[in-house]
Amino acid sequence: MDKFTVARALDEISRYLELSDSNPFKARAFERAARAIEKLEDDVVALVDAGNITKVPGVGKATGDIIAEIVRTGSSSYLEELRGQYPSGIFGMLRVPKLGLKKVGILFTELGISSLDELEAAAKSGRLSKVKGFGPKSAETILKGIEWARKRESNFLLPVGIEVGEMLREKLASIDAVEDAEVSGSVRRRLEVIRNVNLVVATKNIDVVTDALRTVVDRFEIVDETTVKGVARNDVEVIFHLTAPNEFGSTLLRTTGTPAFVDAFGKIPKARTEKDVFKKTEIAYVEPERRETADDLAKKKRTKLVELSDLRGTFHVHTTFSDGRHSVLEMLSAAHDRGYEYVGLSDHSKAAYYAGGLSESRLEEQQAEIATQEKKVRPMRVFRGTEADILPDGSIDYGLPTLKKFDFVVASIHSQFQMGRDEMTERILRALDDPHVTFLGHLTGRRLLSREGYSVDYDRIFDRAAERGVIIEINGNPQRLDVDWRYLPRAVERGVVLSIHPDAHSISEYNALITGTWVARKAGLAAKQIFNTRGVEEVEEFLAKRRASS
Ligand SMILES: [Zn+2]
Ligand SMILES: [Zn+2]
Repeated sequence: MDKFTVARALDEISRYLELSDSNPFKARAFERAARAIEKLEDDVVALVDAGNITKVPGVGKATGDIIAEIVRTGSSSYLEELRGQYPSGIFGMLRVPKLGLKKVGILFTELGISSLDELEAAAKSGRLSKVKGFGPKSAETILKGIEWARKRESNFLLPVGIEVGEMLREKLASIDAVEDAEVSGSVRRRLEVIRNVNLVVATKNIDVVTDALRTVVDRFEIVDETTVKGVARNDVEVIFHLTAPNEFGSTLLRTTGTPAFVDAFGKIPKARTEKDVFKKTEIAYVEPERRETADDLAKKKRTKLVELSDLRGTFHVHTTFSDGRHSVLEMLSAAHDRGYEYVGLSDHSKAAYYAGGLSESRLEEQQAEIATQEKKVRPMRVFRGTEADILPDGSIDYGLPTLKKFDFVVASIHSQFQMGRDEMTERILRALDDPHVTFLGHLTGRRLLSREGYSVDYDRIFDRAAERGVIIEINGNPQRLDVDWRYLPRAVERGVVLSIHPDAHSISEYNALITGTWVARKAGLAAKQIFNTRGVEEVEEFLAKRRASS
């Protein structure tokens, strides 16, 4: 019994409770306990045995009793009872946008609906509109949502894959016969959206490990002698590739690249490490992020890809003055702690009222606050900026006298997404013409797995950005990862400079610099092509020059 199995059971209880919910606090309590158990450093079994489980912050009397039962018997009678009350596929309906646990619960109690097919039938027949909380318009929305859910079935954002991969590696480490385990496939290639998590497992005893995997995942299935499939966290597909230790490198290589890449590679010799495979075949090493196409292999010269540690500062950071969760000082201190030489704060501009965009007078207050707080984070340099809305006609929010007050401007679209391609392209081109604009923010406005970006003419935008010297942002927010890495080489060819930004709304979102760097690496970019790998003097000089000429 390990902490992840316990946490998963608690999560499941919490989900059932929210379906039936009479008391929302009860569901929350189980969710809180699940998170607490997941983070435990001590062994959960030992804690239960010593009678100390309720001393863990987040675990109470009721949740503690259930944890103890799971640890002792391997299951929870309470969870079994809850499972018995609902059909097994009911959580699949959560894939429909805007359908939360509460609504799924109501649909089941009122109409007995527990699957996408049944939901579709009810929406089409008009039965849905009889249920409280579902107006006449919801049938239409739900039908669209079902179509959407089916299209994206079993797709996940990269961070989900990374988390599941890490959790599984940790579990595999506790199996004696496992000598090594590594994530491969699309997660290792850092693809922005993944369908499954692949792991290569090295062992001298495949049978023993195959058997042990039954306790690691749900819906365990043996595909062939060396492949096992399962499901983690209720819905993420996992594929284990079992291999002898002296072929670990070969299997890693074979299961990391796309089929096109692996085919182009040709015969893969037996080797313990991947580096050895490359050495034996006399092929120059290809970073996992660059194993998408046969071309990636064919290139004669390998670019030294940019790394997170190459970044010396960053821009596009929000604070509580607009819609951020942390104050000016907190955001500055976090950047300082990470060792950055400079950081550029940019709260929303006044047109973005829904995101707490700053009026001219609030902006004055924000700049005064920066002046007070920046002394505490010296010698880090703080640049004053804004994320200014690109208005529908392509002009930049705020207007001239105010725009003069900034060291830099990130220009972004936050409204009127439904414009046609030409109109949208013209709007962005006009924004690029404004000499106050330093960076173009999240180019297409996409939200992975939930909103397609507006369509634009990339080549015209890249041409204009190059001509005007506007830097294009790589927005590292894992839901955006905008610009798509597939387009970036076309920007670079034209001489456009890129900059990796976290679009951070909280301290922890500085981590988006990690995902943003992966995007740059997938595009094959080197450090010199990224603006924020430059040192503070060079950046200061660039910004000063741009201001002087605007
Ligand atoms: Zn934005
Ligand atoms: Zn932003």
